[in-house]
Amino acid sequence: MSFPFDAILFDCDGVLVDSEVVGLEDAAAYLSGHGFAWTTEDFIRRFSGMRYDRFAAGLREAYGQILGRDADEREFEELIDGLIETRRAKRHTMTLVTGTEDLLRMVQGLPGVRIAVASSSGQAFLDDKIDRYGLRPVFGQHVYSADHVSHGKPAPDIFLFAATRLGVAAERCLVIEDSAHGVAAGVAAEATVWGFTGGGHCLPDHAEALIDAGAERVFATHEQLTDEFTNLLSRREAAT
Ligand SMILES: [Mg+2]
Repeated sequence: MSFPFDAILFDCDGVLVDSEVVGLEDAAAYLSGHGFAWTTEDFIRRFSGMRYDRFAAGLREAYGQILGRDADEREFEELIDGLIETRRAKRHTMTLVTGTEDLLRMVQGLPGVRIAVASSSGQAFLDDKIDRYGLRPVFGQHVYSADHVSHGKPAPDIFLFAATRLGVAAERCLVIEDSAHGVAAGVAAEATVWGFTGGGHCLPDHAEALIDAGAERVFATHEQLTDEFTNLLSRREAAT
């Protein structure tokens, strides 16, 4: 019996780096100061895991509804710059998701299984996170961002791109994702998708949302994921 996957594609934010949660409350407070009646929860539900361009389009539309007219270029830019600055001010609070190092050590030892990061982040932000947390030696050149493709998640492009770069068929890939948009993207790429709810931003009904989006299974911690890979590996070894 061979290992069921030839590659594992990791989302970054909310899976490896606990970044989705950083500055969220401050961001919601900032937006409420600009007339948005969004709680932190609303903010997560609307935008978690989305690429910047889609996020900006959604925010712009909502801002237009508040203003009762389309926001002009300058006022929208001011709004979004302030929002980015608000979250950036809390970047020092960002950490790796608990158990990430052990999980990565485990998957690096899986025979014949390649790994990559496939993220909705821009490349500069993504590289910064990968380097800051010492993940570069784990992934090498296989760190792929929204900048590599024309359509962000929930479109399948980033996972198809990463699979191609790894030289693996997308159907032989396992995608690990924390957001419903990301799960949908993995499903659209015809990969197997496992949801992950161990990020700090996950709401109580998050596992259900990931299943609804097409995740085959959902894991609450990296420890559980590490155990599952260990099980798959020992079953494979027992069969050969
Ligand atoms: Mg994510």
